[in-house]
Amino acid sequence: MNPFYERAAFREYKLASQDLSRSLEIETCASNSYQRHAELTADVLNTASRKIDCKAGCSYCCHFKVEVRAYELFLIMRYLKKALPQQAMSRFLKSAATNAERIRQLSREQHFGTNLECPFLQENHCRIYPVRPYACRNFHATNHYNCIVAYENPSDLSIPDTFIPELHAAGQGHKFGFEKALATKGYDMRIYDMSTALIDLAGDGDARKRYLKGKRTFPHAIIIETKEIF
Ligand code: SF4
Repeated sequence: MNPFYERAAFREYKLASQDLSRSLEIETCASNSYQRHAELTADVLNTASRKIDCKAGCSYCCHFKVEVRAYELFLIMRYLKKALPQQAMSRFLKSAATNAERIRQLSREQHFGTNLECPFLQENHCRIYPVRPYACRNFHATNHYNCIVAYENPSDLSIPDTFIPELHAAGQGHKFGFEKALATKGYDMRIYDMSTALIDLAGDGDARKRYLKGKRTFPHAIIIETKEIF
């Protein structure tokens, strides 16, 4: 196993398990994990042999399929309620509904190969940046031209990512460690399409109960992945 992955996974599993044993809210556990992820990736980048080519205002990757686990959407919802005006929520839901209508007409393969603007993208900036999900945190590029080519050819899934290997491994390992700790608690670990899950969560007061029992948190959302990864 990659040593960056293994170290990050082991450390984060331990710290996340401590958070969970203190009965912190799931949103707080996720927020703590994101903070540790930011510190880890900054450390790895300090000694990395290559530089990241991502810049504020570049948002090609925000048109690729965005997937979330339920805990990530709970934290996003808490942030939306606390930090953004109600009009912003209405706008995000409208944009998610437009995406949902389109996605429901696509096969799984077509969905993978179709550009859809993330509902939280506004004027090429992420409106929920402090609480963006792991899929976004773990994405980076050392050559943004590859992102442009992928954006312009969405059905060509052979276009390679240009990750820094050690950064990618550390980020993925950290995510795995956190989610492994959640999985041991029996929470719902299904992976959902973000737009359809957001719509479900906005109108459902029982989502958290289902999540904690390991049931399908978002009954009407599109599931990207159900297979056990742990
Ligand atoms: S959540 Fe933010 S960073 Fe992630 S795809 Fe949406 S706009 Fe981009």
